[in-house]
Amino acid sequence: MFFIRQKFTLILMTLIFLFISSESNFSKNYKLTILYTNDEHGWVETDSNHAGAANLYEIWNNVIKQEENVLLLSGGDNFAAAPPLSMETKGASTMDVFKALGHWVAPIGNHEFDFGVSVFKENQRRSNMTYLSANIESESTGLVPDYTRPYTMKQFNGFKVGILGLANIETPSLTNPNNIKGLQLRTYEESLKKYLPEIKEKADILIVLIHDCANKILTDYAVLSLFDEYNVAFVGAGHCHQFVNQKENNSIILETGSYLRNYGRVELTYDDLKKEVISSNSLILDNVKIERKLNKIDTIISNYQKEIEVSQAINRKVIGKLERDYTRDKDDYYTFICKTWFESFPKTDFALLNRGSIRQDLKKGDINISAIKLIMPFENTLYLVDVKGSNLIDELKNKKIIGCYKSSNNTIMYSDIKEIQPDKTYRIILPDFLYCGGDKVSIKSKCENLEETKLNYQEPMINYFIKYKIVK
Ligand SMILES: [Zn+2]
Repeated sequence: MFFIRQKFTLILMTLIFLFISSESNFSKNYKLTILYTNDEHGWVETDSNHAGAANLYEIWNNVIKQEENVLLLSGGDNFAAAPPLSMETKGASTMDVFKALGHWVAPIGNHEFDFGVSVFKENQRRSNMTYLSANIESESTGLVPDYTRPYTMKQFNGFKVGILGLANIETPSLTNPNNIKGLQLRTYEESLKKYLPEIKEKADILIVLIHDCANKILTDYAVLSLFDEYNVAFVGAGHCHQFVNQKENNSIILETGSYLRNYGRVELTYDDLKKEVISSNSLILDNVKIERKLNKIDTIISNYQKEIEVSQAINRKVIGKLERDYTRDKDDYYTFICKTWFESFPKTDFALLNRGSIRQDLKKGDINISAIKLIMPFENTLYLVDVKGSNLIDELKNKKIIGCYKSSNNTIMYSDIKEIQPDKTYRIILPDFLYCGGDKVSIKSKCENLEETKLNYQEPMINYFIKYKIVK
């Protein structure tokens, strides 16, 4: 009897041991679905070319219903350089829409600073978004500013995700430098080396969001080997509005266009025994218009539309007619813009503008103020200064800016460096963005007789159409 009992105990213990050991050898796989957009630039409304945020909300909600673990991420540039709804509300309308879409994490895009730091802080609070930046720090203390943090953790049921964000390395010249006074940027490489080991300790899945172009991440910076070393599963890019969906080693590098027209869907499978992501795939999908009822995003947008109705009614009124198309990045488009500036400020004889401040083509047909605000969607005002020709020659070596001058017979010419007289002093007109050092322009230290016009850089074109009605 004793022997039988002993044998039975032995069998039972063996079974328990087998059960425990099989349990510890049994791995569990967890799936994480990432929904990703970049460079939304406040394009939340629905029109003929944009399905809009309310439509995306429906598409994403279907994914959220089907999948257990969903993470919403953005590549930055969320609310500025945007259509009037977002510009007139200083991003508030876009931020309310983002909050309704869900909790997002994004790196700080350069345009997040366009309305100044206090508006950015208010927008962050309003949207409940987490804006990350591991490479922006105070010049004096070396600390990350209080409105951002290097990385964040997201706990899911069974696994933890660590997300690190990087602001564009050229942010100081991509926004008005006054907006980020006292701050400095570290390189991506330095910041990744500083924080990835720390995140790796705490997180099961590593994600990096960089507000920089996917093609540059793939080729220009020494970061791919770091992504490989730390098993970064997903790298979200932005800033250049590119379409890139590429796998480098085990890291997915993704940039999904702009303006909420498209989104990325990334699936990662995490194995908790191997403690790594064992499979990953990614798609760029269109925000295709679907049959749907009105939802809470439509309500938010229409309430804001009502709020700006009076100014919008004025903006929609036809003020003139354009008889030809102007295409972005073509010289004649820039000379036309300069012509309108010279018309408003006849005592100037040279104009400087930055290519990045002109965001859309100008199509022939009826022109209203909205159309002009859409092509020049910034809060930049125009400044007048005296600058020596030799200094202008230096500045124009910078490919991000272009110049125009008035010839002796008053025609407006696209500037060629060889036509500038080095010893002549020019009265020039330029946006405050450039005067303050945006796009690495250094006019401020080389000029005299500053006059701040307080006129937005769009205004001369608006006045030009009002005055001439039909423009060739
Ligand atoms: Zn950007």
